[in-house]
Amino acid sequence: MSDRVLVAGGAGYIGAHACKALARAGFVPVAFDNLATGWEAAVRFGPFVRGDLMDRASIDAALAEWRPVAILHFAARSLVGESMQQPGLYWRENVGGALNLIEAAVAAGVGEFVFSSTCATYGDQDGVLLDEDTAQRPINAYGASKLAIEQMLANFGASHGLRSVIFRYFNVAGADPEGEVGERHEPETHLIPLMLDAVAGKRGPLTVFGSDYGTRDGTCVRDYVHVTDLADAHVRGLRWLRGGKGSRVFCLGSGTGYTVREVIDHARVVTNRAVPVVEGGRRAGDAAALVCGSARARDELGWAPERGLEAMIRDAWAWANRPAY
Ligand code: UDP
Repeated sequence: MSDRVLVAGGAGYIGAHACKALARAGFVPVAFDNLATGWEAAVRFGPFVRGDLMDRASIDAALAEWRPVAILHFAARSLVGESMQQPGLYWRENVGGALNLIEAAVAAGVGEFVFSSTCATYGDQDGVLLDEDTAQRPINAYGASKLAIEQMLANFGASHGLRSVIFRYFNVAGADPEGEVGERHEPETHLIPLMLDAVAGKRGPLTVFGSDYGTRDGTCVRDYVHVTDLADAHVRGLRWLRGGKGSRVFCLGSGTGYTVREVIDHARVVTNRAVPVVEGGRRAGDAAALVCGSARARDELGWAPERGLEAMIRDAWAWANRPAY
């Protein structure tokens, strides 16, 4: 029988795309999700377990029932702005939930763990390229909560032999090119879906959060990576662990940064429509520039992003025009 993997947050945006990639690679992805921000209709590639990381018993029951060979942990609160308004939510659910999951993994004898971390652990670093060796100095509670979990994994690795792959994502965008899954957040806060909604007239103009940063056009620079490329990296990370390799951190980005204005320009070209925009103030917690400077994922996992910003916007636009859920 195929190996099962528990995918915490498997009904969420990135988790659902990862489930598709895992199923295609021959694993059975068991999606474990409380549906706080995920969608049951996104669980299409394996079984669904409704459970909550804050409820240790629900994790233990899922591990006992499905006996996964590994855990992939996507479930998290992940909004920078919200984390500045409600830091307690981030410390309680992200850190507390991860602790429950990691302790349950150790208790159940699951020795391999893939964790979704973030470039938000770096904070503001004056435009340097960020790689696995860059010092982490988060400037928002979201990044701080993810850094705490990275440290938790290191501690459990040292004391209990838990092996982990930690992926520090840059900005994830796009949708499954085959249209089976895509991005749906309520409320939506991310640049590309908001921008496409503005294009479609589904909501008002996009507000550009700050145009007085020390970047080439004054708006924030981010490194965008296609969700399908990211999902593929997780299969590679899982194979790394299954192959007996040790714990490792990998940054997942393209190495190319785009300003908010450049993203808007791309959307204009891809959709062939105007993008209604208004200028606004800075959003608390935003770093000026976050760009991935790492070659490690390429050299050690054989991973490189195959889809650029245009493909991300094209796939997100197709999804926005025919959402499956
Ligand atoms: N952004 C913006 N207007 C919006 C949403 C986002 O100008 O309505 C900017 C935001 O300041 C950041 C970039 O777009 O520089 C990406 O933000 P997003 O929330 O998509 O991802 P994050 O970088 O917070 O993970």
